[in-house]
Amino acid sequence: MKEDGQQVKIKFISQATGQLGRQVTAEPYAMALYSFATALGFFIAAKIGVAASVMPVGIALFWPANAVLLAALLLRPAREWWCLAAAIVPAELCADMPTFSFTQALWFGGVNITEAVFAAALLRATAGAEFSFARLRNVALFGLLAVIVAAGMASLLGAAVYALTVGDKVAYWSLWRIWWFGDGLGLLIVTPVIHAWLSHGDKPFGQGSMRQLFELAALFAAIIAICVWVFSRQNAGEAPVMISPFVLLPLTVCAAIQFGIRGAGSANLIIGGIAVYFTVSHVGPFSLRDDLEATLDLQLYLAIVAFSSLGLAAFLQELRYHSEQKQILYLCIEAIDEGIMFTDARLPDNPIIYANPALERMTGFSFAEMQGKNPRILQGTDKQPFEMARLRKAITKGETVRALLRNYRKDGSLFWNSLTVSPVRNAKGELTHFIGIEHDVTSMKQAEEELRLAHDQLDQANRRLELRVRTRTRKLEEANRQLEILAATDPLTGAYNRRYFFMRAGVEVKRGIRYAHPVSLVALDIDFFKRINDVYGHAAGDKVLIELVLSVQATMRPSDILARFGGEEFVVLLPETDSGEAVNVAERIRLGIAALRVDAGQGVEISMTVSAGVATLTDAKDSIENLLKRADQAMYKAKDEGRNCLCTAAPFMVE
Ligand code: GH3
Ligand code: MG
Ligand code: MG
Repeated sequence: MKEDGQQVKIKFISQATGQLGRQVTAEPYAMALYSFATALGFFIAAKIGVAASVMPVGIALFWPANAVLLAALLLRPAREWWCLAAAIVPAELCADMPTFSFTQALWFGGVNITEAVFAAALLRATAGAEFSFARLRNVALFGLLAVIVAAGMASLLGAAVYALTVGDKVAYWSLWRIWWFGDGLGLLIVTPVIHAWLSHGDKPFGQGSMRQLFELAALFAAIIAICVWVFSRQNAGEAPVMISPFVLLPLTVCAAIQFGIRGAGSANLIIGGIAVYFTVSHVGPFSLRDDLEATLDLQLYLAIVAFSSLGLAAFLQELRYHSEQKQILYLCIEAIDEGIMFTDARLPDNPIIYANPALERMTGFSFAEMQGKNPRILQGTDKQPFEMARLRKAITKGETVRALLRNYRKDGSLFWNSLTVSPVRNAKGELTHFIGIEHDVTSMKQAEEELRLAHDQLDQANRRLELRVRTRTRKLEEANRQLEILAATDPLTGAYNRRYFFMRAGVEVKRGIRYAHPVSLVALDIDFFKRINDVYGHAAGDKVLIELVLSVQATMRPSDILARFGGEEFVVLLPETDSGEAVNVAERIRLGIAALRVDAGQGVEISMTVSAGVATLTDAKDSIENLLKRADQAMYKAKDEGRNCLCTAAPFMVE
């Protein structure tokens, strides 16, 4: 029996090849042609069988007709068997009729069909639909099931028919044995040769060349010559020495070795034909004794020669087929353009036992240099602890593992090895080998590295750009803020300018009117400022203006708005402030300014006073312009009243 996986696979391949040899065609004309050929073959074989009869009872010592039918049955699909079987009935009648009656001939035909169909069915059931003699097991099955079982069983029936219809004095069991041996020998000698020559699947060793044909012809000529020489010798009374018919055995062995089943089968047929011909003519080595003994000896001799040569041919053909399969596998592995490595797990340190040429090219090591060493010869000093641990763990457990290793060629150059290691187990499940498939991915790895580098550079450039944009934006925002401040303030004092004041004050006044909230305005003008300029200089005057603004800002609330309106004129808008509160604020401002002492240099201090006018929003029809006007008037009134004081404006009057 096939035991290991490899043989199972080869068996599978051989079955596939067997498919090529199938001669199955459903076309009716092929079936008719086959049936006619079978019938014709059966008729000729039956005539030979009758002629080969030496028995006093008339049963053939060699009956080849059934073999023709069995070969046809084995070559054709079961659905055509009925036609093949039916076709031999007239052939049987034609062959038998002069000697036997119509009924007897019909009975014999029935027995013969039963034998061949039974044998074919048994062989199909045990050897599969694709029967081939090129397998030792099939030859053994053929010998057992067709020659012994089917022929033996059919002979029970045949002998019974003979005993009942012919009614001879010969005992039933003698009849049975004679019938069986004749049929069995016919099957053994004729079925394989017909089957092998007509079955493409059994082609022995490749296509036949002219030389092979010549060898075949020479061999057969030698067999015929020696056979005739051995079997045509007169019996003991006349021939000086009888030659043992076993001298032909080396020639059948030779036919089996050189030409497989076809050669062995053909040799058997030639020997069988010549031996039977001469023996029934009472000459040759088997004619020494009486007919019955001669027949038995000849049958035994032919069975030994046929069976041994067929067995040898089948065995050799099978062996050669398997070795061819192995050769194909080997060549395929050699041709793979990926590094392949086998290691022997049963030997210490798991050494390399095979490396294909692709691996030699990849690593620079020859197989001889790698053989017997552990695959770690490809590693350098820079270990990859994580990958190696993973690899080692899988190998210890006998599992498949994939890894990416940094390996080194013989010349010391680095290459990235994408590796798959798989365990190989025998039929018993024992781990015997490891197979490593190795792929050099250095260029891929380099491209990956370059891509990563480019990506990093891009990333850095992006970050730099982002930083610059952020800095620029900040500067721009700062510049904008400065611009806004510049646009809203007086450059000398930092107080708001008129434009900004009107923008803010307009909004506050509108809000005050809408929600009936109080809004007040204080107008300020420095008293006799011209004099300060005149006495201390313009620069000192500027300093006074700056100090004054600081003083007012320190007094007012954050929501109040101080603006410089003219040279030394200021206004303060006081939202949410009624008239009384506004007077208080204005008074605080006035007193604060009066208390100011501005350093004019050289120990000189400048003091000043202001006149203030306070106006408060009193009517919905009031406006900022109106408010300003009234505050201004109140301020002038304060000037008139002697300065350094404040006046309150009259409420808004609708004109
Ligand atoms: P009064 O009490 O009536 O207001 O007297 P006054 O001297 O303040 O009168 P006036 O309003 O005519 O004088 C304003 C002076 O302010 C005139 C001008 O020289 C001075 N002045 C205007 N702008 C500036 C400035 O930016 N810096 C300095 N140092 N002086 C200014
Ligand atoms: Mg003035
Ligand atoms: Mg003034």
